Amino acid sequence: MDAATPQQSRPRSMKVRCCIVGGGPAGMMLGYLLGRAGIDVVVLEKHADFFRDFRGDTVHPSTLQVMDELGLIDGFLKLPHQRLQKMDGLFGGTKVRIADLSRLNTKYPFIAFMPQWDFLNFLREAGKRFASLKVLMSTEAVDLIRRGDAIAGVRARTRDGIVDIEADLTVACDGRHSTVRERAGLAVEEIGAPMDVLWFRAGRSGDETENLFARVEPGKMMVTFDRGDYWQCAYVIAKGQYDAVRARGLQALLDDVVRMAPILERGIGDVRSFDDVKLLTVAINRLGRWTRPGLLCIGDAAHAMSPVGGVGVNLAVQDAVATANLLADKLTRGCPSDEELDAIRRRREFPVKMTQAMQVIVQNNIISGALKGGDQPLKVPLVLRLINALPWLQSIPARFIAIGVRPEHVHSTAVPAP
Ligand SMILES: Cc1cc2nc3c(=O)[nH]c(=O)nc-3n(C[C@H](O)[C@H](O)[C@H](O)COP(=O)(O)OP(=O)(O)OC[C@H]3O[C@@H](n4cnc5c(N)ncnc54)[C@H](O)[C@@H]3O)c2cc1C
Repeated sequence: MDAATPQQSRPRSMKVRCCIVGGGPAGMMLGYLLGRAGIDVVVLEKHADFFRDFRGDTVHPSTLQVMDELGLIDGFLKLPHQRLQKMDGLFGGTKVRIADLSRLNTKYPFIAFMPQWDFLNFLREAGKRFASLKVLMSTEAVDLIRRGDAIAGVRARTRDGIVDIEADLTVACDGRHSTVRERAGLAVEEIGAPMDVLWFRAGRSGDETENLFARVEPGKMMVTFDRGDYWQCAYVIAKGQYDAVRARGLQALLDDVVRMAPILERGIGDVRSFDDVKLLTVAINRLGRWTRPGLLCIGDAAHAMSPVGGVGVNLAVQDAVATANLLADKLTRGCPSDEELDAIRRRREFPVKMTQAMQVIVQNNIISGALKGGDQPLKVPLVLRLINALPWLQSIPARFIAIGVRPEHVHSTAVPAP
């Protein structure tokens, strides 16, 4: 920082017990849980607000259960949202039920669709009652502070200049392009995905209803969600085909979309240019090692998920709950040992691997086949025919999507808050 600038009076360094980099679902939930446990914790978010379109907007029963255990569910469900219970798909014209959450023995048997910024703002507001929790917006971690072999915090860029934030423990929650894990030299294992996704919204009027969420035709696949005043649409393309889609032009894409989903005919006019279409480059990857001394990675920073099942947000939340359960008490005494930090990987790696394995099975057996196209009419895959024919089977994909493998429950300490 320039010594002559007006920022001179601002602190150039701060010291906390735990510094969380990234205010996404993993970071905001972990911040809330550690603040609730009375740990001196700061969450750094590089953006000025949480308002970013086309992020994961699906709050699954596992996350709703966590909100319930935190006593936050009533206020949370007062926020505007849509509920999804039954997932139906159209395969080459044949309708099949893929999952039915109403068959689950869970307190909240539905997926709540809610803009992610509402979820994050809610956690931020709820966390304000914990004096030991600070959320610093417009604060971007740009490098690590090292003490010998250990990570001892981060150097962050703020609107007022550079601030060094020393921390006993740094937690990387900065997403799939994590700066922190890259600076820490943690190696990412790429598993790969055969597709990318184009996201866009099309206007919806109140009389437009359709209980379909997936449509698959030879060479094409798309998903639509009723979001109240608009349809959220995900158009799946073969990996690396985005330039080819653009070269065909916007109208050709929109024509394909409306042919697959005629209900979008009126609202598709909202997509005026490719600026209204967001490319999600699908990745599945994970770290082999989630830690360095003084550093832990969780959420997408430790494992990027495929959009199959819409589970990324919920796995990030589960990681945060497990981290607080296993580390909150230890953090009252200082930085957990390497062994204690690695306990998070040992707890969460199995659910991550199982979920990614299921996503790869769906990608390789359903999505790749559909995207190959060809002249033959599309056959409904055997597994989906079975699920459709035997309704009790519909609870299996429902459970996988809604609750996941090894669900976490809140056990971390809560110190009395005013
Ligand atoms: C287009 C799209 C659609 C998706 N749809 C779904 C869906 O429907 N359902 C679902 O469950 N998942 C979905 N996902 C995935 C989901 O968004 C992620 O899995 C989930 O958000 C991961 O949470 P996270 O907290 O680990 O990371 P992120 O949500 O990526 O949050 C990381 C945060 O860190 C901040 N940050 C990054 N670098 C820094 C830095 N250096 N300093 C400070 N802050 C930093 C970012 O601004 C961000 O707020 C989607 C993802 C995309 C991109």
